[in-house]
Amino acid sequence: MNSINKNSQEFSEGVTNWYLLNGRESLPWRRNVSGYKVWISEIMLQQTQVKTVIPFYKKFIKKYPNLESISSATEDDILALWSGLGFYRRAKNIYKSKEIIKKEYKNRFPRKFNELMLLPGIGRSTAGAIMSIAYKKSYPILDANVKRVISRYEKIDMSDKDVMKKLWMLSEFLTPINNIFEYTQGIMDLGATVCISRSPNCIQCPLNQSCKSAYETFDINKKIKKEKSKKKIYFTLAHSKKSFLLFKKNDKTFWESLWIPYDNQNLKKSNIFKEPYKSEVKNLNHALSHVDLDITIEIFDYKKPFKIETNLEHQWINKNQIDKFGLPKPIKSIIENYV
Ligand code: SF4
Repeated sequence: MNSINKNSQEFSEGVTNWYLLNGRESLPWRRNVSGYKVWISEIMLQQTQVKTVIPFYKKFIKKYPNLESISSATEDDILALWSGLGFYRRAKNIYKSKEIIKKEYKNRFPRKFNELMLLPGIGRSTAGAIMSIAYKKSYPILDANVKRVISRYEKIDMSDKDVMKKLWMLSEFLTPINNIFEYTQGIMDLGATVCISRSPNCIQCPLNQSCKSAYETFDINKKIKKEKSKKKIYFTLAHSKKSFLLFKKNDKTFWESLWIPYDNQNLKKSNIFKEPYKSEVKNLNHALSHVDLDITIEIFDYKKPFKIETNLEHQWINKNQIDKFGLPKPIKSIIENYV
């Protein structure tokens, strides 16, 4: 690492003052702030963009505005609200965490950094965001936006094997004691709206006098894109009188714990279905972060629902009730549009 800018105050004051004039104060999780609400928003914002998160966050908080209201929710209740947001492990972690909070903290949201770090799905940066935004305690964060700002500010070599250690040290050094609420949200917003990945708007940046990368161009195409794998899936979806036979997915590959049609696993025809009176086949593609799914769904229509012999968790779910279950977006869409 080059010698670092000595003046952390100049950095933090620049960010804080910029936030007071330009921060995204209208974001829904910035109103009536609480540890619980910062937690839900930070978990949703892991790996997902702000504009995608906003409607999901509003719906979630409308149903569960605080710990008390979520304390009796089932994992399915939480997965149902997460349906379409992706990375469903996050919803499962919220369920696990709220159960721990109920048992070990008398249903009061933890206020200590070390307690937060013990909850599933909360790492150092998320715990730091909760401590600084909800409790106004000085803790550094290092989400994707913050990484970009401080790595450019100090011109850090991102291919260095110790890069994360260096970035955490820098984030710690640059994080102020005072005005931590404004600083933390300011550095997140600066990364999201000014120091953006493709063409940073350095002219508008409060750090442009001391930033070691100011006015440089960044060729983000240089990054070698990882080739995504492809997976073919063959589902059978039984339907009768607006009810659909769905199975709870119990492997950890993707869509864990969501309700899906019967998975025929590489075209092995299942023998659990009787002959339908009508059938049709639908094909669709769905991109996940690490794999592209090529899905074939055979829809079987029956006069009435029937029992099947299997040890897989399953149930007939009425179309009007599917909002109460966690379903992957493409499956939900097929059911909603099936007539
Ligand atoms: S001056 Fe430019 S590169 Fe440096 S932090 Fe600001 S926007 Fe990013």
